[in-house]
Amino acid sequence: MAKRDYYEVLGVSKSASADEIKKAYRKLAIQYHPDKNPDNPEAEDKFKEAAEAYEVLSNPEKKARYDQYGHQGLGGNGGFGGGGMNMEDIFSQFGDIFGGGGFGSFFGGGGGRRTKKGTNLRVKLKLNLQEIANGVEKKIKVKRHVVAPGVTFKNCSACQGSGQVKKVVNTMLGQMVSASTCTVCGGAGQIVDKKPADADSRGLVIKEEVISINIPGGVGEGMQLSMSGKGNEIPGGIPGDLLIVIEEAEEGVFQREGNNVIYDLHISFIQAALGDSVEVPTIDGKVKIKIDPGTQSGKMLRLKGKGIKDINGYSRGDQLIMVNVWTPTQLSREERAILEGLKNSENFKPDPGKQDKSFFDKMKEFF
Ligand code: ZN
Repeated sequence: MAKRDYYEVLGVSKSASADEIKKAYRKLAIQYHPDKNPDNPEAEDKFKEAAEAYEVLSNPEKKARYDQYGHQGLGGNGGFGGGGMNMEDIFSQFGDIFGGGGFGSFFGGGGGRRTKKGTNLRVKLKLNLQEIANGVEKKIKVKRHVVAPGVTFKNCSACQGSGQVKKVVNTMLGQMVSASTCTVCGGAGQIVDKKPADADSRGLVIKEEVISINIPGGVGEGMQLSMSGKGNEIPGGIPGDLLIVIEEAEEGVFQREGNNVIYDLHISFIQAALGDSVEVPTIDGKVKIKIDPGTQSGKMLRLKGKGIKDINGYSRGDQLIMVNVWTPTQLSREERAILEGLKNSENFKPDPGKQDKSFFDKMKEFF
């Protein structure tokens, strides 16, 4: 079955704000929630479809990819893609949507379906253009809360292990069970029975871990990758996620323009007039390029496929070389004499033809 457009699924326009997207999803999640539609596979499909749409449209990186490339833009990519969601994923999303109490509790629990999740860890990762261009494997040192070895838990007697204290309230949807977080166990449902001396009251210790992550080629400044389950652990729940925020290092000789890299080449006017062979750096190492005799300043040369890998596919951008003709700023007596001799030479008078496009025309041609 062909996938429906995510905006259509949520019934919002492409220009909808994050808040509007959230509201639309919340409405559908309530409408199609399995607890309200028992044994209704159609409702379950709608519920999952909405959750998947929200998962993508609420994540700026995924949304941008979806806006540009549609469903195809979300496949694969080393585990960072969209893909199907299982019920556990969906319910773990609800902490965000419905606030503290969670959504499961809104409907009276839903038979232990609600899974507690540890907090997310966020790290910044600085990458240079070369790493961004081809993708790179990085090792990141993180300090995570993990359940201490040897710690044992027992059910919290205040909430009988549910983590919530319930009461019946009247709402717009009829009589509902409202729940608030148990103050004794902090919502964990369990309290520490025995623990090693170095563990905190929740039975957690801080552990430094080195985590290896494959960064796909083509990531950009501010993009966020997530590794599920590599965040903080929580007793009786699933661990949070490790969020990796990409930063582009501003060093080096290249400038990034989308998936292309731009390099400024300076040549002398003698090289420009006579032609030459010069070495230029690329992301993959140095290459020799030919400067034609009569090259004008501002000429753009293109090295195909020497740019940055596309995050969604297998293509690669180009390296654009902007040729700048360098005018000498000081001259010796002899140099001056030679140039004075050429001053009135017919060939040295500027005579731009039609093929000498303006800078702006060239930019249009190249991007
Ligand atoms: Zn409790």
